[in-house]
Amino acid sequence: MDFELNAEQRQILSSIRSYAKERIAPLAAEYDRAARYPREQLAGLAALGMLGATVPERWGGADLDSVTYALCLEEIAAADASVAVVVSVQNGLPEQMLLRYGSDAQRQRYLAPLALGQKIGAFCLTEPESGSDAASLRLQATRDGDGWCLHGQKAWITSGGQADIYLVMARTGRPGPRGVSCFVVERGDSGLSFGPPEEKLGLHAAQTTTVSFDGTRVGPERMVGREGEGLIVALSCLDAGRIGIAMQALGIARAAFEAATAYALTRRQFGRRIAEFEGISFKIAEMAARIEAARLVALKAAWLKDRGQKYTREAAVAKLLASETAVWATREAIQVFGGNGYSRQYPVERLYRDAKITEIYEGTSEIQKVVIARQVFGEAAQTTAVY
Ligand SMILES: Cc1cc2nc3c(=O)[nH]c(=O)nc-3n(C[C@H](O)[C@H](O)[C@H](O)COP(=O)(O)OP(=O)(O)OC[C@H]3O[C@@H](n4cnc5c(N)ncnc54)[C@H](O)[C@@H]3O)c2cc1C
Repeated sequence: MDFELNAEQRQILSSIRSYAKERIAPLAAEYDRAARYPREQLAGLAALGMLGATVPERWGGADLDSVTYALCLEEIAAADASVAVVVSVQNGLPEQMLLRYGSDAQRQRYLAPLALGQKIGAFCLTEPESGSDAASLRLQATRDGDGWCLHGQKAWITSGGQADIYLVMARTGRPGPRGVSCFVVERGDSGLSFGPPEEKLGLHAAQTTTVSFDGTRVGPERMVGREGEGLIVALSCLDAGRIGIAMQALGIARAAFEAATAYALTRRQFGRRIAEFEGISFKIAEMAARIEAARLVALKAAWLKDRGQKYTREAAVAKLLASETAVWATREAIQVFGGNGYSRQYPVERLYRDAKITEIYEGTSEIQKVVIARQVFGEAAQTTAVY
C-alpha cells in the first residue's frame, strides 16, 4: 500500500486546511452560541469544490478521489463540526443517491446545482416512530394522477428548512423494505413545512428540524430509482455517508487532541508544565494512537471505494471506532484543561458536545455492530434494513 499523497492531493488538502483554519475555525464558537446556520462558510467551501467533491465534472463536481475528500472533511470538522456535517450529508447522501440512481434529467436539474454548491440538499429517512428500523417508515405516498401525493412527517433532518432539495423516502407499497420509494421534493413544493430548529446538545449551527408533508404533490419525474427501491437507494449510499461521519468524528477528536497538547505544554502546576506528569502525557499519547488507528481504517474504506470494491464492513468499523474515539478524546481533553475545560472560553466543551452525535446519526454504534456482525457472519444473516 502507498500511504503517500500525490502532489495534487497535497495541494488540495493544503488549500482546504488553510480555508478551514482561517475562515471557519474563528467563527465556530460564535455560530455555536447563536445557533446560526453557516451559509457563508458553505459558500466559501463551494467555491473550493467541496460541496460536490466526488461528483464528476460533467455534473458540476470537483471529481476528487474519496481519500482526498475524506482528508478534506477531517480538516473542515477540525474547524467546525456543524459545517462538516452539512458538507458530509450533501456529498455522501443526496449527491450519491442522484449520481447512482437518478436519471440524466434529475442529475441535470438537481445534482449539478448541489455539486456546485448553489443549492443545499437534505436526506429524509428518519421519522418520529422509525429510526434504526428504517423499513418501518410510514410517510405515505399515494398515487395522484400520473404522480404522487405525500403525507406524513420526517424527524431530525439536517439542514431542514435551510435546504433546497430533499431526498425523501416514502411508502408507496406494502409494509416492509420493498414498499418504499425515493422522491425529490423541492423547498417550494405545496404542503411542505418545517418545525422549529431542535434544541440540541451540540452541532448548534447545523439546523435540524422536522419536515412535514401535507398533500405534497410530486410528478412522476421526481422518483429516484424505481418504485419500491427507495430503501436500497438510501441505505446503499450510507456506506459513503459513514466514511464522512467517521472523518467528521476524527476532525473533532484531532481538534481536541491539538488543543489539549498545546494546553499541557503551557499550563504549569507544582512548578512544571502539566505535560511532564505521566497522568497527562499518557492521555495525549493515547489520543494520538486512537486517532491514528481510526483514521487508517476510514482511509482504507475510502481507498476501497475508489477502487470500486465493497467497503461496507470497513465503513462501519471506521464509523464505530472514530465516533468512540471522538467522544473519549474530547472528554479527556476537558480533563487536561481542568476547570478551564468546563468553560465556554475554551473550545473543548463545544468539541465534547459536538462529538456525541457521531455515535448516533447515520446508524448508531449499536447498528454499526449489527452491520459488522452481518459482514462477519455473511450476508445470509441479513434479515432487516437498518439505518
Ligand atoms: C443531530 C441529528 C441529525 C440527524 N440528521 C438526520 C438526517 O439528516 N436525516 C435523517 O434521516 N435522520 C437524521 N438523524 C436521525 C438519526 O439518524 C437517528 O436518530 C438514528 O438513526 C437513530 O434512530 P433513533 O433516534 O430513532 O433511535 P432508535 O432507533 O429508537 O434507537 C434507540 C436506541 O436503541 C438502539 N437500537 C435500535 N435498534 C437496535 C438493534 N437492532 N440492536 C441494538 N440496538 C438497537 C439504538 O442503537 C439506540 O441506542 C439525525 C439525528 C440527529 C440527533
